[in-house]
Amino acid sequence: MDNSSAPVVVVLDGPAGTGKSTVSREIASQLGLSFLDTGAMYRAMTYWLLTNGVEVDDADAVAVASAKPAIVSGTDAGTPTITVDGVDVSTPIREQPVTAAVSAVSAVPEVRDRLVELQRESALAAPRGIVAEGRDMGTVVFPRADLKVFLTASAETRAARRAAQLGVTDETEIAAILTDINRRDAADSSRATAPLRKADDAVEVDTSEMSPDQVVAHIIGLVRDRAAARLG
Ligand code: C5P
Repeated sequence: MDNSSAPVVVVLDGPAGTGKSTVSREIASQLGLSFLDTGAMYRAMTYWLLTNGVEVDDADAVAVASAKPAIVSGTDAGTPTITVDGVDVSTPIREQPVTAAVSAVSAVPEVRDRLVELQRESALAAPRGIVAEGRDMGTVVFPRADLKVFLTASAETRAARRAAQLGVTDETEIAAILTDINRRDAADSSRATAPLRKADDAVEVDTSEMSPDQVVAHIIGLVRDRAAARLG
């Protein structure tokens, strides 16, 4: 990415449906960096709790059980993977039962402590650096990141993108997706521990009128500007 050999940390935060995953992965690919989808880790934890009969609205039960599953994120931007106790869970973690329960699980401090530790370990193990995306990357997990980006988009745009990803065209179903996105954003933004919030030193990028390629190019430009400023 630049001529210095220090690993670089680029973080992207923002609400659901802003294109964080697609964009982060592509940036990591183009810059030869590792990639970490931290939402997938919270989803994997939620999936394990649901399949092991833990009541996800019981914060004490979640706190105790959350020590048990072995969650491993593969950080190759070309083929990101997520396993729980050695089993690939990349498909079920995207399904509705997990999406509906994940905000309750991710509000539990013990869950966050455990996953934040894994996230920092992933960054330390990344040879050239990492692009990490989530909700609290810039505020809590990597407060000294080289570049912090906060992605936004109108709620309608975000719902339309999610619908397109899921292949949904029916207006009622799109309205339901919008309601679900708003519910999840409200829960993620209002929780006591590590709420969704733009870091003071993050650059805000409104992606409503931008294609994923435009967002990628814009952020890579920001990374290069930072690297040039560091060297200059
Ligand atoms: O990004 P994604 O929509 O897959 O994230 C799923 C959920 O995981 C979010 O709604 C949020 O509750 C939680 N999350 C979090 N902190 C992160 C990433 C995700 O609390 N860093």
